[in-house]
Amino acid sequence: MTPDHEVRFRSVLDDVAAYKPGKPPERTDGRPTYKLSSNENPYPPLPGVLAAATDAAANMNRYPDMGALDLLEALSERFGVPVSDLALGTGSVAVLYHLLQAACGEGDEVVYAWRSFEAYPIAVQLTGATSVRVPLTDDARHDFKAMEAALTDRTRVVLVCTPNNPTGPVVRRDELLAFLDVVPRNVLVVLDEAYREFIREPETIDGVEVYRDRPNVVVLRTFSKAYGLAGFRIGYAIGHPPVIAAIRKCALPFGVSEVAQAAAVASLRAEKELLERVEALVVERTRVVDELRASGWKVPETHANFVWMPLGEETVAFSEALQAEGVSVRPFPGEGARVTIGEREANDLFLTIACAWRQ
Ligand SMILES: *Cc1c(COP(=O)(O)O)cnc(C)c1O
Repeated sequence: MTPDHEVRFRSVLDDVAAYKPGKPPERTDGRPTYKLSSNENPYPPLPGVLAAATDAAANMNRYPDMGALDLLEALSERFGVPVSDLALGTGSVAVLYHLLQAACGEGDEVVYAWRSFEAYPIAVQLTGATSVRVPLTDDARHDFKAMEAALTDRTRVVLVCTPNNPTGPVVRRDELLAFLDVVPRNVLVVLDEAYREFIREPETIDGVEVYRDRPNVVVLRTFSKAYGLAGFRIGYAIGHPPVIAAIRKCALPFGVSEVAQAAAVASLRAEKELLERVEALVVERTRVVDELRASGWKVPETHANFVWMPLGEETVAFSEALQAEGVSVRPFPGEGARVTIGEREANDLFLTIACAWRQ
């Protein structure tokens, strides 16, 4: 008889690293703490969005609208795309999982830049496919020539993160279009635009424009960052109907809650106000980057709501120094730390410590 502790799992799980969430700050002396470790939006919900979510909570004994019609119609109108080109998920990370599950498995390859979003290696590995990581350039950008060279006849998916998490640079129009021209049409290219609303680079290109005449391109967007709904878990894909149908087949039934759907619809209605907050964060980002550079830090260009501090071996010590002052950031030991642009006081405290570090 088999002993009962010998439950077996797929061997790919043996090498899967657990996703590391950004740490909360810790402090015991009563002074304020700031969480700059998860790229969250520091603003509290708009009253109208909170009211819409609260109203929806009254239906919690019912399953949500699985078709999410109100939200899909609002997105359809917002982006000028048919409802058949939209799929929702519990965060765009969930949509990515569904997409990879649909597109690849054992023996297949997924190409992406590295360092990039931490969820990528985990999501790829769970499908059984192999990650092909292409190092970023010295200025922390995607190296499309090298990514092109990494394509093989086993490549099924390419992930493009723009702006790149955790380094910040955005992919430019010309380099993306030239790359898409050489990617075989049976390879799916995922444009992860989680920070789209924070981009202020005129030389970039909107994924919604890119996907229209390219059936192998799919765009991922989220309500977590610019719209401040990280806790409700809601994101979406924009792609051609066969891609969308594949995502929907892999999605968990009733994943996106009624509360999240209602908050997302209300957020699209309140977009003007929400985007003003994004603009204020962009102004803060410029201030933070300028001050860091003025005090000698070599931080790469950033078009997201975070800044990359290339600290190398000093990364852990730097993060601990911030943590001791009540500021949590996201360290990548040996490489650098990612610091979210937060409320003004948080950014001030971070700048004080970071600028002193360079003296
Ligand atoms: C935050 C983030 C996402 C989206 O996360 P969800 O909360 O799951 O929508 C996707 N991609 C990148 C690169 C991110 O940083």
